Amino acid sequence: MINQIKGLHHVTSLASSASKNNAFFTDALGLRRVKKTVNFDAPDVYHLYYGDEKGAPGTVMTYFPFPHAARGRRGAGEVGTTSFAVPEGSLKAWADRLTEKGVTDLGQDTRFGENRLTFTGPDGDAFALVEANDNRAPWTGNGVDEDMAIRGFHSADMRLRDEGASAELLRFMGYEEVDRQDNVIRFAVPDGNEANVIDIETLPGAGYAGQGAGSVHHIAFAVENRARQLEVREALLDTGYQVTPVIDRDYFWAIYFRTPGGVLFEIATNEPGFDVDEDTAHLGEALKLPSQHAHLRERLERHLEPIA
Ligand code: ZN
Repeated sequence: MINQIKGLHHVTSLASSASKNNAFFTDALGLRRVKKTVNFDAPDVYHLYYGDEKGAPGTVMTYFPFPHAARGRRGAGEVGTTSFAVPEGSLKAWADRLTEKGVTDLGQDTRFGENRLTFTGPDGDAFALVEANDNRAPWTGNGVDEDMAIRGFHSADMRLRDEGASAELLRFMGYEEVDRQDNVIRFAVPDGNEANVIDIETLPGAGYAGQGAGSVHHIAFAVENRARQLEVREALLDTGYQVTPVIDRDYFWAIYFRTPGGVLFEIATNEPGFDVDEDTAHLGEALKLPSQHAHLRERLERHLEPIA
């Protein structure tokens, strides 16, 4: 078992419209856009990041908006619901706010004793706001007050046909089983960054998910720095996982591996962070390009969908 992983770092999903995606996260949910850049492997597509003031690990939802992408098919082998932590007693205000913003499929339930408000995003992406005792400072610059603003991720929920090998992997990564309810097993990492929870939802006969707009592409787990990341990489390789080399993603270093249940995992460093190439006061405003795509700026600025 390893102890370098400190909770979620970011969650990355697919979208069909950059402007709708941007409006949903900044206006409806009140997160801060902390980076506007492009996909390293497909520079004609944005990579948009939304989080707290600085884009702290454990708060950052990121998107690749492929214009007019077909919607994904929900099923086993993917992340089902991505959950954000909000203050206790705030769900009524959230229900009112989201209704006002045009969200029509609100649901309320309780999971492991915590109140949840469930809803979907512009591409059918499944989200929940969970009332939790969470001490992280929220971003309040987009019109959502501190008494209800999102604190960061609460959890991500993996939907699997069979939980066995993935549960074993989470335990290896330092997660501990903390509860079970119906077909859901809750894992948490001790001493994490508050985005500490992963739920496994077991759906034995379910069809497999097909990736498209609204699907989670991968979830990333946080390690403090590159030295810790190399230790995790060695440990995963020793256990038989196929892990990529370390990749420089400008705002963090990344390694990736496919889990037994089909979900793509990334391990990302907390260093250097999103203020490495722009001031904290202006994060996410300018189009930032990875150096190998800098020569494409004129074309990309003409071609990429404008966002507010
Ligand atoms: Zn990632």
